[in-house]
Amino acid sequence: MPEDCIFCQIVAGEIPSNTVYEDDEVFAFLDVNPLAPGHTLVIPKDHHERLNDLPADLADDLYEALHELIPAVEDAVDAPASNVGFNNGEASGQEVPHVHGHIIPRFEDDGGHP
Ligand code: 5GP
Ligand code: ZN
Repeated sequence: MPEDCIFCQIVAGEIPSNTVYEDDEVFAFLDVNPLAPGHTLVIPKDHHERLNDLPADLADDLYEALHELIPAVEDAVDAPASNVGFNNGEASGQEVPHVHGHIIPRFEDDGGHP
């Protein structure tokens, strides 16, 4: 793991986070600067920079976790919908170079955020 990767440090427990979900391959935690209540980040435990860098089996694991977590996060904050997405590469707005999916709950008439 790159020593300076904050998300690897979160997975290792070296930086505290509010854990939402964890299995052998995937970790999910609340975003420290949420765009909406329940804003959750879903990451592979292994360090890869971009979504398209993931080996296929790990991409499957990540998708399976998202499949469960999207409705769970929405239910937890009573949101009818969510924006789900990945910034992929620095120029896209990816600030942390460790693959992460955002689940951002959306509410009726919330004005929009991403
Ligand atoms: P990006 O812009 O790379 O797609 O999103 C990075 C996200 O990581 C941002 O929404 C930011 O608030 C979040 N983030 C950055 N550092 C930390 C941290 O140390 N802990 C947590 N929980 N989230 C972080
Ligand atoms: Zn990392």
